[in-house]
Order: sequence, then structure tokens, then C-alpha cells
Amino acid sequence: MTKRDYYEVLGVGRNASEEEIKKAYRLLARQYHPDVSKLDRKTAEEKFKELSEAYEVLADSEKKKLYDTYGHTGVSGQFREGAFNWGDFSHFGDLRDIFSDFGTFGFGGTGFGDNIFDMIFGRRNGASQSHRPRKGQSTRFDIEITLEEAASGVSKEVSIPHSVRCEDCDGTGAKDGKVTTCPSCGGKGQISRSERRGYSQYVSITTCPKCRGMGRISTEPCPACKGSGTTYKTSRISIDIPKGIEDGMNLRVPGAGEADAGGGPSGDLFVAIHLKEHETFKRDGPDVWMDMPVTFVQAALGDEIEVPTLKGKAKLKVPPGTQADAVFRLRRSGLGTVNGGGVGDQYVRVKITVPEKLSQEQKELLKRFAELEGELKGRFSRLKKGRSS
Ligand SMILES: [Zn+2]
Ligand SMILES: [Zn+2]
Repeated sequence: MTKRDYYEVLGVGRNASEEEIKKAYRLLARQYHPDVSKLDRKTAEEKFKELSEAYEVLADSEKKKLYDTYGHTGVSGQFREGAFNWGDFSHFGDLRDIFSDFGTFGFGGTGFGDNIFDMIFGRRNGASQSHRPRKGQSTRFDIEITLEEAASGVSKEVSIPHSVRCEDCDGTGAKDGKVTTCPSCGGKGQISRSERRGYSQYVSITTCPKCRGMGRISTEPCPACKGSGTTYKTSRISIDIPKGIEDGMNLRVPGAGEADAGGGPSGDLFVAIHLKEHETFKRDGPDVWMDMPVTFVQAALGDEIEVPTLKGKAKLKVPPGTQADAVFRLRRSGLGTVNGGGVGDQYVRVKITVPEKLSQEQKELLKRFAELEGELKGRFSRLKKGRSS
């Protein structure tokens, strides 16, 4: 496949200014982002990568000069593997800003940034770990929900204390946001050392130690965050717990973890789900089981009884002659599954109860019943025989 011209990819002219190039990238990044793009995912990811490659080159005066003079072959040596990979991308700050415009934490595939970070930070393309941009710490939060809530799905508002980018200094750590470009790395936040071997150029990239990857240094520390660039706050976050969720599952809320002092994206929040024991139901995957007391008369004569379900009450026919521990099934009264599988069933196990106290009349009737069955007599005679032999 022939590579498209970078200017064409970004839709800008050859003499576009730095600002125009940046603007074009931001605009197109929203359009081709795999989570919002109308294109199929694979195409969108490719488009988005192509776009980011073009931006990586044209936003860098050195690379741009090489490209303007020699075309694609001129810049291939600038990429660690000879071709652009996400590990070569040095504008994560721009992407983060684009994401933050969307304002929501992306859980459940609705928000932004859920999958993009997976993609960018190399979980998909296998970019080398050592060059991954830094990311804030991930945090964990535990939520206990009832089985009913797991069955219907539930939205929970939680207060999460976490560090965020300092608003006073916009994360720069500098008083009044007054910063100067880091002289060590020239503002890139990374230091690259290149080495030429034969026709190939090898570039190793490390985080700049002077500015800790921020690309800027402050002349006076920000009083609000004492120069750290981050402050603490408590965020109210709405967690959408999907129906069918199981005990021990984790939900990831991208960007709701700790801020990264180095200017990288915030870490993720992992919400661990715990299911409360239910006094009636035992869960078995998508199904639920319960024991239902039924009197021996109901079991013998048959009856229609009312049983509890996760969504209210249901009628259950107990046929005449029902035996102890017989199991009946109520279809689709269980739970769904998070991956959209079918709804499970509810199993009702019959527990036959025997009255502990009988009135005189009831006793007479039962004896009469036994006589009719020939049971009482038969059993006594068997017992007698058993003992004498
Ligand atoms: Zn630096
Ligand atoms: Zn600050």
C-alpha cells in the first residue's frame, strides 16, 4: 500500500502553520476516533493511526523538514521500528485534551477513551513497554449490590477521592502557569539519542529527567499544588452496573484514577462488584435456586402457590403427588449475563413441611386416611415381623 501524503491526510496546505496543523489534527481525531467513528472499528483505527503519524511528523520541525525534502523515506528512520507505531507518538497531551472535551468517563462503550487508551498505550499494538508514556496510578473501589440490583442493572453514584490536574496552574506546577520550555529536552519531555548503523538510524527515547517528562519547568512553584501539578478532590462518579454482573467482576472507569504528575493521562478506577448474600435465592450463573416450603397436603393434592422472584411474585403450579425435593423451573426468571447472553431460569426446590402440632380432629382424619391406605396397619405388621425374625 502506498502511503498517503501527510499534508493530504491532515487536509492542510504545504505551508500550513503549526497552529493549523494542530487544529486539523484535533478535528480529525474526533472524527476518526474508533469509539465515535461511523467507520468499522478496524478501518477507524487505521485511519486514526495514519492521522496521528502525519501529525507526529508535521508537528515536529525536524521531522517535517526531513519529510518536505525526502518524503516518506526521509522520516522512516525517525521511527524506532522503521515505521510509525504508537510508541513513537509524542502528543498524548493533545489527545488527552481532546478526550477531556467529551467530559464523560467512558464506561460501557458509550463514553470516550475506554478503548482508545488500550490502543494507544500499546495493549493492542504491542508497543514496547519501556517507551510507554506514563499514566497515573489506577485505584480500586468496592461496591456491594443486591441480587435484585444485579438482575435489573443499577446505576450507583459514588464519591471517589483522587488526585486531579491542578486547576490553578493547569498541571504545570508553576505559579500563575508561568513556565519556560525545558532546556534539556526542548519541551518534548523526552530525550532521544540517535545512532546510525549502516543505513539505519536507531533512536532511543527516555523521559527527560529535568522536567520529568513535562517539557516545561516552572520558575516559581504553584502555591495551590506546591509545584506538584496535582491536587486532591472528591469526584461524584456515576457507575452504570450492567445487568447480569457477577460477584468479583471489575468495572473500569478510564481516567478516574490518580492524575499523573508528569502530564500523562490519569489512571483508571476499577470498581470491584460484590454481591450481597440473598436470604432466599442462591445464584448459579444466570440461574437462581430457592427452596419453597409446601405442606404435605398441598404436595399430595396439588396447588397453585405464589413464589418470590427477583422481579416480584410468580405463580407456580404444584401438581398432585409432588415428591419431596422436586424441582420446578420458572423460565426466564433468573438473571441475564453481562455479555448479553440469554436470561436464566429460576429453580424452585420443594421442601415438604409436616405439621408439628395436630388437633384431635386432624389426628383422627389422618388415622382414617392411613387406614384407607392400609398403610398404618401394613407398616406395623412389617415392623413386628422385622423384630421377631
Ligand atoms: Zn525536559
Ligand atoms: Zn498548581
